Amino acid sequence: MKLRLFISLLFLAGTTQLQAQNRPEDTEVWEPVPPVVDPGPFAGSPAPPDDAIILFDGTNLDEWASTRGGGPAGWEVEDGVFSVVQAAGGIHTRRQFRDYQLHLEWRVPEGVMGSGQARGNSGLFMAWDLARGQGYEIQILDSYENSTYVNGMAGATYKQSIPLVNPMRPPGQWQTYDVIWRAPRFSDGGELLEPARVTAFFNGILIQDNIEMEGETYYIGQPEYHPFETAPIHLQAHGDPGPTLSFRNIWIRELDL
Ligand code: MG
Repeated sequence: MKLRLFISLLFLAGTTQLQAQNRPEDTEVWEPVPPVVDPGPFAGSPAPPDDAIILFDGTNLDEWASTRGGGPAGWEVEDGVFSVVQAAGGIHTRRQFRDYQLHLEWRVPEGVMGSGQARGNSGLFMAWDLARGQGYEIQILDSYENSTYVNGMAGATYKQSIPLVNPMRPPGQWQTYDVIWRAPRFSDGGELLEPARVTAFFNGILIQDNIEMEGETYYIGQPEYHPFETAPIHLQAHGDPGPTLSFRNIWIRELDL
């Protein structure tokens, strides 16, 4: 009887530990909260430089594919912008990239609903593994007077690096990301040689200063690296209630870092 109780307790302890390792909360960080900075009003889209590849010029999504099946991207293009269609799932670039500088504009709609992570959530995945459905995310979220774990707010590398400040404009206004991505380097055998590095500006303000990534960004569990050479860029359909996010003026400059 005593032995059976002991074995039961052992089993229970093991199960509890297993569950504790697999909770999303385990990788949430709530402090310190980055200071709010008012970046001023949106002052106009920068024209793409002449060495840039235009990923969206306001007219069509020819450069993008559905991440659910690889067919045409099923998001809606209207009035020079495109908007998330939740039912269509995420989208990714047809091209693959290694190191680059990216400009992207995004807008949380007026009348956005929900709170925390369920409020204007999308994501810029700087490299996306199509086969595994994982990647390296800079969070896109309404972080204007909307608190959440700070390693999951707008401008965070998701559940890794907290942004230096919070320069988010209110819903209905355009936001900009300018990102420098240096892909991780792997040996021929797939061993990590150098981690990925990210520098990012949010509404023109530095939020990530050449940070070292710990691996792919996960909702649950610790980051890990999986080897790749080049990868598409992915935009997330998160599935929040209410009106959806929009994007425009996306261009990329390939780098050889
Ligand atoms: Mg996201």
